[in-house]
Amino acid sequence: MHGIAYWIEKRARITPTRIAVIANDQSLTYQEMNEQIQHLANYLRYELQVKKGDRIGILSQNSLEYVLLLFAIAKLGAIAVPFNIRLTPAELDYQFEDSGIRVLCAQPQFAPTIELIKAKANVAHMIWLEPGELPWSQDGPSESSQHTRTDADDGSGDDPYIICYTSGTTGKPKGAVLTQENMFWNSVHNVAALDLTSEDCSIVLLPLFHIGGIGLFAFPTWLAGGRVVVAGKFDPDKAIQLIETHRVTIVMGVPAIHEAIRQSPLFATTSFDSVRWFYNGGAPCPKELIQHFQERGLPFGQGYGLTETSPTVFMIAKEDARRKAGSIGKPVMFCEVRLISDDGKDVGQGEIGELLVKGPNVMKEYWNRPEETAKTIRDGWLYTGDLARFDEEGFTYIVGRRKDMIISGGENIYPLELEQVIGELDGVQEAAVVGVPDEKWGEVAKAFIVPKSGAVITEAHIKAHCEQRLAKYKIPKSFVFLTELPRNATGKIIKQALTRLKTDSITQ
Ligand code: ATP
Repeated sequence: MHGIAYWIEKRARITPTRIAVIANDQSLTYQEMNEQIQHLANYLRYELQVKKGDRIGILSQNSLEYVLLLFAIAKLGAIAVPFNIRLTPAELDYQFEDSGIRVLCAQPQFAPTIELIKAKANVAHMIWLEPGELPWSQDGPSESSQHTRTDADDGSGDDPYIICYTSGTTGKPKGAVLTQENMFWNSVHNVAALDLTSEDCSIVLLPLFHIGGIGLFAFPTWLAGGRVVVAGKFDPDKAIQLIETHRVTIVMGVPAIHEAIRQSPLFATTSFDSVRWFYNGGAPCPKELIQHFQERGLPFGQGYGLTETSPTVFMIAKEDARRKAGSIGKPVMFCEVRLISDDGKDVGQGEIGELLVKGPNVMKEYWNRPEETAKTIRDGWLYTGDLARFDEEGFTYIVGRRKDMIISGGENIYPLELEQVIGELDGVQEAAVVGVPDEKWGEVAKAFIVPKSGAVITEAHIKAHCEQRLAKYKIPKSFVFLTELPRNATGKIIKQALTRLKTDSITQ
């Protein structure tokens, strides 16, 4: 049993005085963090009668209380349900209902949203996460919290631990059920891939309601006995200051975060000499952005993962990050992968196939959705829906999502390839390509372009560049200029929103 509930307790015995977490302008040693987790677990267990299997929802910005809750919930064998704070009341209503939460822990700023959620009627207890007024830390230890440890049946191995809703970029969010074992193995994979030690300090810039915030690299860093800086709402200047102040060694981000860091006026004047890795995942990263960091001498590499795999599947090794910029590297230690064609056969080197994953970090199931689970996990293989290819040395390149692939006159078009080609142009900030219906070809590509501020870039200019770099059938048939692209909370472009966008009214 690798119950994560006891990691902090064990670390509190081995290195009690080392700093474990820095958040809300305070830092806790492993001993202090352990005491607070114990206090909170007792409160949940004895005051609120939380039992194994109960679902506890969390609606909060990143905070110290958030991480304490994640460990206390693990101690009780209960199930954490982190909610995306950007969702509308109607979207949250669906997730409250679907997960069946009994307790909701929320920051007071979300009270007006919660008021509008019908399914809150089924929530038995509400905890307001207000530093200084936390119910489990008022007036010294309550009678119940004097228990030195919970005697509850803690979650072990295969029991559900987190229900993490996928970002929903491809439909209604599904709750991926991750176990404590899943989280343990994800941490082992990342400790091994990054050579994490107790000397490391990672910073959490991604939201903790996303698996990337929890699994990259907060949990792995705690397993290694290092320090974790939990930043609140993302702000690039503040992130850079935290990196410098706390001598952060590992920075995890998605392209939108790295882009914002690069755009910060502090970027040029900061040495980042403590950082041994900027890691990118979650979405395709423009090569130009990778190179920008690398040319400044900053180590920058890519990984790949998804909610359903807790999340890491691939990580590029340090020695390959420059030479193979653009690749997601090779599978982590105990993950096996395959690429298969539509007829289920393994594809050859260089050919494109759907990526399948097997390993101890693959989710147990989708919550309440046996049919979706059976469709996604077959013979122990998780079908990711992503398309990729291996090169001659076994390095992997993501070429796009199966659902985004455009079939035009019988030819496959991978939007990511077009986005990268258009992104090469100087005046282009970013580009997104989607398929739209076409009478003649069935489907054709349509490009959405965000010009760099102050840049003058025309459709003719982009077309001419595409003609030099792409086969004729791939070239987008229409171009739309926007000031920004629609994104979700983790900075991912919502392609469905682009497909739905009425572009007739937009100046082209
Ligand atoms: P939904 O399944 O609801 O549509 P989602 O797939 O966006 O949501 P996540 O689990 O947050 O949910 O994201 C995983 C996906 O992100 C992967 O399947 C892949 O498409 C993409 N991704 C992750 N890392 C990379 C990367 N390094 N390069 C390209 N794409 C990546």
